[in-house]
Amino acid sequence: MRKKLVVGNWKMNGSRAANAVLLAGLREAGPWSADVAVCVPFPYITETALALTGTQLAYGSQDCSAHEQGAYTGEVSSLMLHDLGCRYAIVGHSERRAYHHESDQLVADKAKAALAHGVTPIVCVGETLAEREAGQTEVVVKRQLAAVIHTLTHCIGEIVLAYEPVWAIGTGLTATPEQAQAVHAVLRTQLHAATQKSDAMRILYGGSMKADNAVALLGQPDIDGGLIGGASLKAADFAAICRAAG
Ligand code: PEP
Repeated sequence: MRKKLVVGNWKMNGSRAANAVLLAGLREAGPWSADVAVCVPFPYITETALALTGTQLAYGSQDCSAHEQGAYTGEVSSLMLHDLGCRYAIVGHSERRAYHHESDQLVADKAKAALAHGVTPIVCVGETLAEREAGQTEVVVKRQLAAVIHTLTHCIGEIVLAYEPVWAIGTGLTATPEQAQAVHAVLRTQLHAATQKSDAMRILYGGSMKADNAVALLGQPDIDGGLIGGASLKAADFAAICRAAG
């Protein structure tokens, strides 16, 4: 039995004042039986750590460098994230793949760098609407995951995987539970061929998950939690999803 994991992805949102309200709201709303984490913008990691001290909530970043240290202006390494107590780093979010031209291999290298420093990468895969309509969903997500499997080899069992159909992110469109489950099952089968740990690995769904669709999505056999964007910015909305996961 896999314990559910709900992760908030704040994206490039927040301010010190707004974060304090949100994190205080989460402190009050918990505990939950699911594992819960928030992935916050880099500048807010330390304050998030302080605000969440003594709670069950973990925290992390929304990206990390593929490099350990050195002349990489603007980059943040997983060594630094580990130093700040981050448990997770999202890698390969579709917004980074699209706007920062991150390749499958770069995403895999970032996942490897995260693991090397004790930070669990939450590796995102997902197809665009055009790819889905062209019947390419399986091909695309399997290609994206294959790069990570190839790069991490025996460590692949240590990642968290997130299926995030690009057409469902921030659009209000959600994959039906059946659509999501079908892709999750494909991904688990691919993981199964790569590691004996696949049954213990968590595959999250992300894409306009909200309190009112969370129960049905999280009720699917291969959906082990959620990666939540918009609905993670209000404590009550996020807490309701965390409860649904419990
Ligand atoms: C995300 O950005 O990972 C995401 C799932 O966003 P939203 O929940 O807003 O669709």
